[in-house]
Amino acid sequence: MTIESVAFIGLGAMGWRMAAHLPKHFNDVRVWNRTFDKAEQHATAFGTTASSIEHAVQADVIFSCLPTSQQVEDIILAHPPKPGSIWIDCTSGEPASAQKLSQQLLEYDVHFLDAPVSGQTIGAENGTLTVMVGGNIQALERARPAITPFAGLIEYVGEAGSGFAVKAVNNMLLAVNLWAAAEGFSTLKAHGVDMQGALNCINASSGKSNATETVLPQRVFTRAFPNTFALNLLAKDTGIALDLVQRAKLPAPLLALTQSLIRAASDTSNADSDFSSMVKLLESWTKIELS
Ligand code: NDP
Repeated sequence: MTIESVAFIGLGAMGWRMAAHLPKHFNDVRVWNRTFDKAEQHATAFGTTASSIEHAVQADVIFSCLPTSQQVEDIILAHPPKPGSIWIDCTSGEPASAQKLSQQLLEYDVHFLDAPVSGQTIGAENGTLTVMVGGNIQALERARPAITPFAGLIEYVGEAGSGFAVKAVNNMLLAVNLWAAAEGFSTLKAHGVDMQGALNCINASSGKSNATETVLPQRVFTRAFPNTFALNLLAKDTGIALDLVQRAKLPAPLLALTQSLIRAASDTSNADSDFSSMVKLLESWTKIELS
């Protein structure tokens, strides 16, 4: 299949930037957003075409990037794609939903790939996202030219739902590492240790993680907490990961505890808080500001 037309549904923090790469590779790029002004602004800024949802789902390849699998299911149910097309869902979604949608859409001769992304808004802007793909591998090979424009790594990880599973576990690890780093640095501050010096040492040692290398120095110690990835979306992801643990009937006490902490942090914060502001819950207990 030669891809003549692509569509992008959901121009949020991620989708806006991901879709911006597509017109460099395809002439017919349709964008749709619930708040339609954003689609029109995207068309003006990047040379895409603001389309009705009915027109968008008639593209050869359709991307979606929405908060949860529920919104994706609602749109697909109301607006089924055309036979022969490939639906690529970049939402951080639920594996069970991917399994259901891939079965349902096959009846319409449509392949559904779960293809969540990692790399945050800066990775979307630079076109360097990690894309973890579950579903039919031949469909991925056909769709690959449409994913490449915003990807640094495209990795096939297994049957339908596998991409969503990897993404959920990845974000659980982000949460575990950030919470642990916040506890560790609170302890060091309580003992009067120099924070920048401690950070320099740990980032050149075995305790380092993305939390110590970027999240603490860039978002927490600066007190900037820039809202690029909502805490309630991270809480959704850790919930998906814990659901996977429970379905596998595995003991995972650290992941269960982390999910409780992230859920509590999300429930007690503002709706638009960045994920990094989870540390404020710990700070409210310790009375130690991480700065
Ligand atoms: P945003 O909240 O910035 O954007 C959400 C998008 O979904 C908007 O376009 C919004 O439209 C649309 N939307 C919300 N509800 C509905 C609905 N009921 N029907 C149709 N459209 C709807 O989210 P992000 O871009 O940050 O995240 C999108 C997905 O990507 C999530 O699953 C998230 O977990 C994941 N993700 C996010 C990352 C990040 O750094 N932000 C990194 C990696 C993955 P409207 O403009 O009308 O509100």
